Amino acid sequence: MSNTLNIQMVDLVGQYHRLKKDIEPAMEKVVGGGQYINGPEVHVFSGELERYLDVKHVIPCGNGTDALQAALMALDLQPGDEVISSTFSFIASVEAVALLGLKPVLVDVDPATYNIDPASVRDAISERTKAIIPVHLFGQGSAMNDIMQIAWENDLFVIEDAAQSLGAHFSMDGNKMKLGTIGHIGCTSFFPTKNLGCYGDGGACFTNDDDIAEKLRMIVNHGARKKYFNERVGLNSRLDTLQAAVLNAKLGHLDDFIDRRRRAAAIYFEALKDVPFLRLPGQGRGVDHTFNQFTVRVPGGQRDKLKKYLNENGIPSMIYYPLPLHRQPVFAPYCRNGMSLPVAEMICSEVLSLPMHTELTEEELLYITQKIKQFS
Ligand SMILES: *Cc1c(COP(=O)(O)O)cnc(C)c1O
Repeated sequence: MSNTLNIQMVDLVGQYHRLKKDIEPAMEKVVGGGQYINGPEVHVFSGELERYLDVKHVIPCGNGTDALQAALMALDLQPGDEVISSTFSFIASVEAVALLGLKPVLVDVDPATYNIDPASVRDAISERTKAIIPVHLFGQGSAMNDIMQIAWENDLFVIEDAAQSLGAHFSMDGNKMKLGTIGHIGCTSFFPTKNLGCYGDGGACFTNDDDIAEKLRMIVNHGARKKYFNERVGLNSRLDTLQAAVLNAKLGHLDDFIDRRRRAAAIYFEALKDVPFLRLPGQGRGVDHTFNQFTVRVPGGQRDKLKKYLNENGIPSMIYYPLPLHRQPVFAPYCRNGMSLPVAEMICSEVLSLPMHTELTEEELLYITQKIKQFS
């Protein structure tokens, strides 16, 4: 097979062209309407997302990082309080913890699902622990049964980082719930490459708790319930009307986006299942996976060689993430000297994310998987 294909890691432009007739009129309406901030589309979107997630409150905000910061602010924690999270994630999951003067406590992950290891969470609990932030990495839910049990036993808050997993279900005591609606607060991002992406920055918090919702609404709006009457220190964090219009046009397609990702993942699984030098992603109990990323492990020091080989054959791939958070210079003050979280350290040297998006064709997947199988 010749490589005349133009394989991309993500294909946002291709998706836009496919859905243009839904998205363009929605954007034009905003631009022509003049209500660029807090226009009606923002309210419509939060209502629609509440229905989609089956959650009482969706509070839109400027981006996923702000959503996490607002969530932590809404819990009214004290400086020095500890927040436990996964060391294998994007910086944003824990950045706000440090920004607010709280103490990030980073723990190890499960080698198959790449998600936070409940036993490590239990071990990390101290008198000052106040919250846990499970990150549903690459589109798959963390072990929320165990996390909620630990939180309940120790009187802790749970903030779910659902930035990569919007739309995924979790079976909680036999009930199917959407990820992000299980803990006290869920946070997500509408960054263009996420499951539901806009054309710029966007984010949201979700909660079923009326008091927390009211606080969150104030926090993202300069701490004000009423304009020019400010009750607490807040942020200026809004979802633009234009982005809300894009999201309204795309929300109805979210389940189809996820199906497309799952179909691509199924082809990867089937074609790569017997490849001896790969470890395919594992699936947790009661969780479904939305494959925001399809991330394999390449043990034996072969990862960088495979990445180079794929690149030479016109196949992009990415390393999410090369360095665990406990090894990031910024978090050194919070980590014991030489502190080791061996699973995450191993994973960081082995992970490789393959092309994954809603527009991948069978022909492209066939080419990618054939090339991988020829690697030696
Ligand atoms: C993208 C992402 C965020 C942050 O979202 P932004 O909208 O980029 O601020 C937080 N956590 C995780 C796990 C993410 O992937």
